[in-house]
Amino acid sequence: MKVEQTEILIIGAGPSGSVAAGLLRKQGRDVLILEREQFPRFSIGESLLPQSMEYIEEAGMLRDVVEAGFQFKNGAAFGRGDQYTDFDFREKFSPGWGTTYQVQRAHFDHVLARAAERMGATVRYRHVVEAVDTTGAQPEVTVRSPEGETYRVRARFLLDASGFGRVLPRLLQLETPSDFPVRGALFTHVEDRIPPGSGFDRQKIRVTVHPKHVHVWYWTIPFSNGRCSLGVVAKTEFLEQYQGTETERLRAIVAEDPTLSTLLKDAVWDTPARSILGYSANVKSLWGPGFALLGNAGEFLDPVFSSGVTIAVKSASLAASCIGRAFAGQAVDWEREYAVPLKAGVDTFRTFVESWYAGGFQDVIFHPNASPEVRRMISSILAGYAWDTNNPYVADSKRRLGVLEKLCAA
Ligand SMILES: Cc1cc2nc3c(=O)[nH]c(=O)nc-3n(C[C@H](O)[C@H](O)[C@H](O)COP(=O)(O)OP(=O)(O)OC[C@H]3O[C@@H](n4cnc5c(N)ncnc54)[C@H](O)[C@@H]3O)c2cc1C
Repeated sequence: MKVEQTEILIIGAGPSGSVAAGLLRKQGRDVLILEREQFPRFSIGESLLPQSMEYIEEAGMLRDVVEAGFQFKNGAAFGRGDQYTDFDFREKFSPGWGTTYQVQRAHFDHVLARAAERMGATVRYRHVVEAVDTTGAQPEVTVRSPEGETYRVRARFLLDASGFGRVLPRLLQLETPSDFPVRGALFTHVEDRIPPGSGFDRQKIRVTVHPKHVHVWYWTIPFSNGRCSLGVVAKTEFLEQYQGTETERLRAIVAEDPTLSTLLKDAVWDTPARSILGYSANVKSLWGPGFALLGNAGEFLDPVFSSGVTIAVKSASLAASCIGRAFAGQAVDWEREYAVPLKAGVDTFRTFVESWYAGGFQDVIFHPNASPEVRRMISSILAGYAWDTNNPYVADSKRRLGVLEKLCAA
């Protein structure tokens, strides 16, 4: 069997893979990306956070993203019954980007992958990684080409950016169950026909809490072409109560919220809905001999704060700088220099996600008399600045949020 050699091999051309490729090309490394699908291809995860812009910029891909014409985003809006609140991410505690985009991922991921190619990475579409061996001096993967031929690639370093494909966690038995209950989502794209003047802010994601069930929520993510991504997230038991096609089930659940159904009363449902179940995942270790896991190939928490792509590109940045040091001959402690710093931000999000589903964080954001300073700190976290330990709600998130929840519940 043919064996190829490369410096860096990346499995998957989603955001974590392409951003890692850009960063490593900037270091002058040879980079090969093997991607299972032909791009453009659909992916879920369409609302970015401003923190992600820093890593897209660092990878040399900012202009590609800006010129793609995506919907400008400056914040997040939340609705619960007749309550409404919104956060403008430009009014935040942490320094850095305050705006970003809402993106059709088929196009966005293609833009990033093409940027990686422009920077000199090789991307092979429809090449599927089927096996891996990390026991030798260098990791080696077995790949199936679109023609059905099998070949091997040996790399000085292997990055698994395969997202929900979770290639290395599956093949190396690294998977562990997530602490989160099994939730699922039903979602589609609609031509929304929401009229201007309806109070719907197209520059923000809108998260709507179900009128009766605190743990069920909907997203509406407007795009720049008059269309909107629409979805609902709930425990699987809740979703299973609804009969029919995925579109019928989603329409029935949307009809239960008066505000959302009024906003979408003229929407054209022209795309069959899809579902995804049990997406939360975890691993025993984010790295091993000659390899590291990026983005969703490692841990995935929950979509409520749109943190997935931000965590994915943050992981790419951390891993690329560890690889840079390793290739310069320095000893790298992957646990201390990659896993621990990455997990610190993920744990901040975890605290807020848990509090969201328990209802406490919902009471915090809808509280009418929140202090502007506290709102700026919360706005920072919602904008993705979950690693900024100058923010007290990052440095001491559990205790601080607990105190705030008590104050707001009173
Ligand atoms: C319901 C839901 C809503 C979400 N909403 C948001 C949101 O609004 N904002 C946000 O930031 N995040 C959101 N996310 C999370 C987001 O989808 C992911 O976090 C993000 O796509 C992770 O990027 P990634 O690069 O790690 O993986 P991916 O984007 O999944 O890319 C992985 C790539 O690897 C390829 N691959 C897989 N297996 C193989 C193989 N064997 N060989 C070769 N290639 C392979 C795949 O084809 C794919 O292209 C949401 C997630 C869910 C479930």
